[in-house]
Amino acid sequence: MARSRVTVVLSQAPGKHPGKRALEESIVAALLMEPELEVSVVPHLYDLHPDHTGMLFLESVSGDMVVLSWLYPRAAFWLLDRNGIKGHWGASQLQPPADEEDEADAETDTPVDKPEPIGASGPIPERYIYTLDLRDSNKYEDYVAEVKRIAAECRQRRATQAHAHAAENPPLLQLGRALRPSSALTSTAPPAPPPDEPSSAALPAFTPEALLAPTGRRWYPVIDYNRCTNCLECLDFCLFGVYGVDAFERIIVENQDQCKKGCPACSRVCPQQAIMFPEYKSPAIAGANTGTVGGLKIDLSRLFGGEAGDALALAVQERDRELVNDGRAAVGMTVGIPKRQTHKPQAPKDELDKLVDDLDNLGL
Ligand code: SF4
Ligand code: SF4
Repeated sequence: MARSRVTVVLSQAPGKHPGKRALEESIVAALLMEPELEVSVVPHLYDLHPDHTGMLFLESVSGDMVVLSWLYPRAAFWLLDRNGIKGHWGASQLQPPADEEDEADAETDTPVDKPEPIGASGPIPERYIYTLDLRDSNKYEDYVAEVKRIAAECRQRRATQAHAHAAENPPLLQLGRALRPSSALTSTAPPAPPPDEPSSAALPAFTPEALLAPTGRRWYPVIDYNRCTNCLECLDFCLFGVYGVDAFERIIVENQDQCKKGCPACSRVCPQQAIMFPEYKSPAIAGANTGTVGGLKIDLSRLFGGEAGDALALAVQERDRELVNDGRAAVGMTVGIPKRQTHKPQAPKDELDKLVDDLDNLGL
């Protein structure tokens, strides 16, 4: 039944915050009443190892899916992609509070001459993944309403696809295929099943205990391939072997757990602001998507270091600290610094510091 029902996965907050648990439980209790939904709960998405049952369950879902987590939607989507859980981006209508003027400003901040991003690797299956941020509202009803809206949208999309499929395979053609001798069929690819036809492969059984098996806390970068241009500057900058390239020479986060806990250094070096640390205190680095967070206008490029040599200095400082903690020698600006950045003028230090402080003070 996997393809005819929408799978909803709620990813719990790390720790046992009573307010967050109460919100999670209210959402799940309400969604379990919906016959069109398949509802499951897993631990904090970011902390799941690839072999955790929760991640294996997510991998087993082949149809449309809604994932509710305590992560920015962009971070959750690319985190899933990193684990081979791919699909088209499903747009949510549940947004963090922001007025229209802010949104318009954020639009105009977008550079027009950015290089083309490389996009997700490999084929994208014909299904949609919606990622909802559980910090966008403290009312469970808002999430329930949005999930129901998404389920209706998916149903409508499948109906449209089934209609198109039927138009491409009229009944007479299907009858002709059925009357042909079986030997004639061996050289002909069988028609694809209609998009809304239930999948023959049933989901394997996952017990709630296995799905919710405890996890340790993790820390690693997540790449947004809708921004990444494969310049490989992060590969040069990181001296801890976190990054690598795949068989097609595309940047990947190869050794996630070699990243240094709490350090976001390479996110400041990436010229496209494509590197996210979903647990970092500053929303821009954690994966926030707009130019405004909590009413504060953010210059993303400055915060990350695209224009500000000062942010590069901060990244180098952070990297040196981790090298020394590892018993290695600090390298300063002598290793892995892109030439284009070493010639940038230094921005006044107090301006960037103020911006970071402002973001910290939001307490998000
Ligand atoms: S530095 Fe940024 S844009 Fe360049 S390869 Fe790394 S993630 Fe991609
Ligand atoms: S934060 Fe530091 S250790 Fe982690 S990937 Fe970036 S440069 Fe490497």
